[in-house]
Parts: sequence; C-alpha cells; structure tokens
Amino acid sequence: MQQGQPMIILGDDSQRVQDKDAQQYNISAARAVADSVRSTLGPKGMDKMLVTSTGDVTITNDGVTILQEMDIDNPTAEMIVEVAETQEDEAGDGTTTAVAIAGELLKNAEDLLDQEIHPTAIIKGFHLASERAREEVDNIAEPVDPDDEELIQKVAETSMTGKGAELEKEVLADLVVRAVQQITVEADDGSHVVDLQNLNIETQTGRSASESELLAGGVIDKDPVSDEMPTAVDDASTLLLNEAIEIEEADVDTQVSIESPDQLQEFLDQEEEQLKAKVDQIVDSGADVVFCQKGIDDMAQHYLAKEGVLAIRRAKKSDISFLKNVLGGSVVTDIDSLTADHLGEGSISRDEEGELFYVEGNGDEVHGTTLLLRGSTDHVVDELERGISDAIDVVSTTISDGRVLAGGGAPEVEIASRLRDYADSVEGREQLAVEAFADSLELVPRVLAENAGLDSIDLLVDLRSEHESGDTHTGLNALTGEIGDTFEAGVVEPAHAKEQAISSAAEAANLVMKIDDIISAGDLSTDKEDDDGPGGAGGMGGMGGMGGMGGAM
Ligand code: ADP
Ligand code: MG
Repeated sequence: MQQGQPMIILGDDSQRVQDKDAQQYNISAARAVADSVRSTLGPKGMDKMLVTSTGDVTITNDGVTILQEMDIDNPTAEMIVEVAETQEDEAGDGTTTAVAIAGELLKNAEDLLDQEIHPTAIIKGFHLASERAREEVDNIAEPVDPDDEELIQKVAETSMTGKGAELEKEVLADLVVRAVQQITVEADDGSHVVDLQNLNIETQTGRSASESELLAGGVIDKDPVSDEMPTAVDDASTLLLNEAIEIEEADVDTQVSIESPDQLQEFLDQEEEQLKAKVDQIVDSGADVVFCQKGIDDMAQHYLAKEGVLAIRRAKKSDISFLKNVLGGSVVTDIDSLTADHLGEGSISRDEEGELFYVEGNGDEVHGTTLLLRGSTDHVVDELERGISDAIDVVSTTISDGRVLAGGGAPEVEIASRLRDYADSVEGREQLAVEAFADSLELVPRVLAENAGLDSIDLLVDLRSEHESGDTHTGLNALTGEIGDTFEAGVVEPAHAKEQAISSAAEAANLVMKIDDIISAGDLSTDKEDDDGPGGAGGMGGMGGMGGMGGAM
C-alpha cells in the first residue's frame, strides 16, 4: 500500500482530521473544559449553578461535580473530565487544580507546536518535567505528625475555604478532624491507617451548619413503620434484614381460583398465617429492633408492634451495611434461617425533632462514627456535604501520607523555579517543553490572584523574586490579599494531592497531544439536536455538547 493512502475505506458520513488539525481540534476542546472551571479555583473562586434538562439545580464550587454535571459529550473534553475524576478518586481534592493545569499545559503546548516543535519532543519534555515536579514536591513538603491536631485542622480549613463549608469552617474542620481520628488506627509498623468505611455522612435540613455534630454509631433518617412501636430501645438485639416481610409473590403461572366467599376467607387467613409465622420467627430470635432493607406488610407491621418490636422499612442498602459495622451481627437474607447469632447489639433513640434514629453499638468489636451535617436548605446541605467530604479525604490523606505543603500557589512557584533550573540540563527541544511545563504550573498563583481581584502579573513577579531569594513558603494569602509565608498563615494543603494533580494533568495533556488522527464514524459534532454553538473549535464544525458552554459559564 502506498504511503498516504487511507488504510480504511470510510463511509460517507464519516469525518477524518489529521496531524496539526487533529491536535488543534483536541487542544481547543480540552482547553474549553479546563477554562470553564478556572473561575472557581481558590478561596475567592465563584460558584456555578448547573441546571439539568429536567430542571434540577446544583450550586457548587467543586471541580469534579461541575464537570460531571456539565453533560459534556465531546470525546476529547471527556478526557479532561476523567482527569478530575481520577484526582477525586486518588486524592479527594485538587480537582480544579488538576484540570486547570492540564488546560494550561495544552495552551503552552500549542505555542510550541506553532513553532514547529514535534509533539513527540513536547510529550517527552512534559513527561520529564512531571517526574521531576513530583520529586520536588517531596523535597519541599513538610512532615506532619498525625497527632498535630492544630496543623491538621488547618489542612481541613484550607480545603474548605471558598466552599459552602467556609462560613462555619472552624466548627466543621474540628468535626472533620475528630471524625477522622476516630476511624484511624495505628498499624504495627507505626503507620496510620484511616478506615473510611467506618465513617458515615448524614445530612439534615432545617438547622444551621454550626449545629452539625459527630455521633458515635449511625443515624437512620426514617420513621418506625407503626406509631404503636417504641421509638427508643436500650440494649436492644438488632436485626438487619434484607428480605421483605411480606407474602411471597405466587409464581407467575400459578393461578388461584376462588369460587366462594369461604375460599376467599381461607386464602386470606392463609396469608395472615404466613405473615404471623415470619414475625414469630423474628421475635423468637430475640430481636427487639428490625432494620429492613425491603418492605414490611401492613399486617406484619401490626404484629410486630403488638410484640413491642421497633421496625423500620426500606432502609438504604448503604445504611444497612454501615449499621453492620456499628451493631455487629450479619445481614440476614432469609428469615427461615434466622437465629440469635445473626443479631447485633445496640441502643436506639430518637432525635428531638422526631425525624432520625440514633443507633449506637454496644459491643467491643463494633465501630462506626456519623458526621451529621445540618444546613438550612437542600442546596446548602448538598454543597456542604461535598466540601466536607473533600475535607475528610484531605485529612485522611494527610494523616496516612504524613506530608503537607504551604498553599496559596507557593509550591507551584517553587517547583516552577526548580524546573527551570532543571531545564538547563535537558537536551534538545525537550528543554523548551520543560520550561513550558514550569510556566504552566504558575497558572495556579495567577488564577488565585485573578479570582481574588488582584493583579496576577505583579503578584507572580513578587512571588518569583521571593522564591529566588530562598523563601519556599511564600504564597498568596487570598483572604488578606498579601503575600507571605502561607504555612505560617495556616494555608496548608496535602502534598499527595499536589503530586497527583501535577501528574494527572501531565498525563492528560500528553494523551491529547499524542493523537494525530481523528476518525469519526459520524459527524464530529456528536450533539445531534444542537446547532453548532459558540464552543465550536478551529473550523471543525460543532464540538458536540459543548456548544453554548462559554456563555453559560
Ligand atoms: P481544588 O479543586 O483544586 O482543590 P480549590 O478551589 O479548593 O480547588 O482551591 C485550591 C487552591 O486554593 C490551592 O492551591 C490552595 O492552596 C488555595 N488556597 C486555599 N486557601 C487559600 C488562601 N487562604 N489563600 C490563598 N490560596 C488558598
Ligand atoms: Mg479544594
């Protein structure tokens, strides 16, 4: 086959874009996504309001949430969303940073491509720079003692600033730190292991965030199935049930033919008997409280109430498995095989408002802590929960990893400066890519300044000169607008999240740049209903799904 001849015969509807056009197309798509989250970065970042096609509203500052809710259906743009998701999974925080750096890397790569530097050289240079940057993060990181509550509290507060959790950040950060401490165990080798399985976050609307609390055990947001039941039971034997207390559905093909009123009565009696028998089995096992994941028939509710048993139905699966940690025992899937051995032990009580059950375990072997978050409305509580779960991840990472950084752009400026030194030792055109990588990291302090309404160029000049003179901790304190030692100012972030953000940004940028050929089975615009929106890139027609995004953000 001759060079340049297409290997595949493409259909009429298909499109193909190659080489520089392909890179340009992909870079624009990826950058459009990255640009859309920049304005949320840092303590002074703004929020976004996302409205789904069915009118559901989410108000958030959380990078990964924004990107997930944005309904992006451009394949390249989705790669950037994946960066945020990886970052969320690996570090729990730093999603906006990762995505913003990826966008800036691509922007700077585009300039290099324009200077006829081959993508392979850029990719190699970015890779070298990313490896080096990781090492430098480790070099500038400060060790943190897992018992240093004051410092860890600062880490939690830093991750909350600019989020819904900010207003009450001292109270909430304290709750987060205590919650994580309760689920941390020290391993034999002295390392600290945080078992997030033992922490449950529950939300309740109606009261202020400052009334959030940390509870031993679990919380169930349900009513008892009958008003006749007790609402508090001390030292209860508890049953976790994953089977309905209902009549088993007759097989589809069995027909019951009823010819007389007597027969009907007999049939109903039989059903009642069956239900009574199930309830008897539960009572005989010794259970005082039943948390049922499925339904409970009215008649069974009545029998259970008569026996003085507290029963809750349609509990969430996640709640049932958490209660297993709290109460002990096992989750029973067949009432016929139920014995006392399956039961757990604990005490159940009701909150003041009569909305929630508090469930506390009695045994030694049981664990589980609940962070009950309160807030005035659903939107407030939802955003609070996102901020708090980031903070929990950040605190857990910090405790298990044991390294922190001064925040406010200090690490980015320091690493950029070290990368520029390193670039001198890199041969060929890769050197330019390493320098471009350094420039890209400085996007973080620039955007932190921009979002705080400060002059980003002046700021960067000042920060660079401080770092040149050896002050590795100098960054922007966005709350005061001053530059200084951010570590001292209590702006502290986990080193692991920064390492992860830098390397996933680099990987994503390289992935996008490696593509030199886009072969699409259909129109490259994947959003069929939409006309080409203003998001359309580089004369490539619509960018599917991203149309109009620029305006909406
Ligand atoms: P991400 O999704 O990347 O975590 P955030 O919106 O949480 O994005 O912003 C994190 C950035 O904000 C970090 O670089 C952190 O150092 C910085 N930051 C947090 N608090 C402050 C502060 N008081 N002053 C300056 N920068 C801050
Ligand atoms: Mg954050």
